[in-house]
Amino acid sequence: MPITPFHFGPGALIKVALPGKFSWTIFALANVLIDLEPITLFLLTGDPAHPWLHTLPGALLVAAIAVLLGRRPCELALGWWNRQLSAGWQTQWLAVAPQITKSVAWVSALVGTLSHLALDSIMHLDVHALWPFVKGNALQGSISIEYLHLLCVGAAVVALVGWLFSRAIASR
Ligand SMILES: [Zn+2]
Repeated sequence: MPITPFHFGPGALIKVALPGKFSWTIFALANVLIDLEPITLFLLTGDPAHPWLHTLPGALLVAAIAVLLGRRPCELALGWWNRQLSAGWQTQWLAVAPQITKSVAWVSALVGTLSHLALDSIMHLDVHALWPFVKGNALQGSISIEYLHLLCVGAAVVALVGWLFSRAIASR
């Protein structure tokens, strides 16, 4: 996907469905890390290619980096976020659980990079997600890019509505 944030929508939906079992922060970090590949190659060569990290071994490596190097900074960022909130409605509505357990971090990072491969496979012919087991890309073009973007944005909208609903119930 050309713009990484489109990947965040499906993750937000999973977060709303499984709030205590999924870290959107680690999920988003893993998505950003894996897209350093096409961004760096674009800056170096002009071609935003996906040769290494957008494969199964690459996705596992990026997920491991997100967990092993990213979990603690993510927890610190969430704690910092909580400290910016003033008492009252801000804390009630916007406070987040700052701890990310190891198991939640691994699940979230793997869902992040593997869902990233699935979505990017639909969009980019040069994503060989199942390399080295399967060469090529059978998913590319299976749905239109416009529909793919719509699904990602739609997931974010549904997640926002679900989040508002759950917070409204919790604050009653
Ligand atoms: Zn990508």
